[in-house]
Amino acid sequence: MQKLGLLLREFRDRLSTDVPLPPDCDLFFCSEEAPTVCLGSMIHGNEFGSLPALVELQRQLREGRIQPQVNIFLLLGNGAAALQNQRFLEEDLNRVFTFDRTAASLERRRAEELRPILDQVDTFLDIHQTQTPTESAFYTFPWTNELGEWARALGAAPLGLTRASGASFSPGTCCLDEYVRARGKVGLTVEIGFRGFDELQEERAFRAMCRFIELSEALLVRGESLDSYVQAAASIGWYQTSYIETQFAAGSELRPGLTNWLEVKKGEVLSRPGSPVLKAPESGRILFPKYAQPGQPLPPELYRLATPIADPEQL
Ligand SMILES: [Zn+2]
Repeated sequence: MQKLGLLLREFRDRLSTDVPLPPDCDLFFCSEEAPTVCLGSMIHGNEFGSLPALVELQRQLREGRIQPQVNIFLLLGNGAAALQNQRFLEEDLNRVFTFDRTAASLERRRAEELRPILDQVDTFLDIHQTQTPTESAFYTFPWTNELGEWARALGAAPLGLTRASGASFSPGTCCLDEYVRARGKVGLTVEIGFRGFDELQEERAFRAMCRFIELSEALLVRGESLDSYVQAAASIGWYQTSYIETQFAAGSELRPGLTNWLEVKKGEVLSRPGSPVLKAPESGRILFPKYAQPGQPLPPELYRLATPIADPEQL
């Protein structure tokens, strides 16, 4: 946690004082006319693997080594939770951008602080990490052809989990990227790997942020289309959720070692020996496996299965 503390301090020491901004947010102002890009990190506190990349980007911007043609917000979501190595303290920050009730929790108050920034952005990239180990980085968002093209041109992950447009990830909630998309702007989330510091993920996050700025400049400043960027990029393997394990017996437990994107066969036993038997109802790839902590109640769903989509445009 020492590295986290040092990076947080470095970020905070370098914050712009030119304009009033919410805590843990930075702005690199280009011009009134320029489009506005926002890069999000640590929206979930214990997903601080992209923080070194954000701090490096901040440094290069402040030193003038990167001279963007767009305004850039750097946004650190939940520093308070990060310092406690928690996903959140009172409420999941990435579910509370609904603004439909009094901001009673720490995270809802943080959402109120961040809202004016999201209200200005033209493009938003949110970098997350998974809570359980993952075989691959991946995107997750409801399908639109435009977002599919952005994801491919960005090249931050070889896989994507998508769903029909309009289908909410969790009904009654709103993520930051959803909030931005609801304004008709581009909002993209990528999971770069398992939570925590990791050099490969730092590089992945830094490349993704720089590339996102470049693409935003190409499209919104120079009026280019995504076509040439898409053609030059590797295609993405798109998947959709085909099964959610919710009907399980009391005492059910997943077998150790299930990771995100692990391939399983139909009928394969997914439960820990000695616990009620759980079998994969179909072949697919495991997503969001949940392991209950001792003394904690079981989560409402134990895992999801994802299967490939031949053509996401048909969703
Ligand atoms: Zn997250």
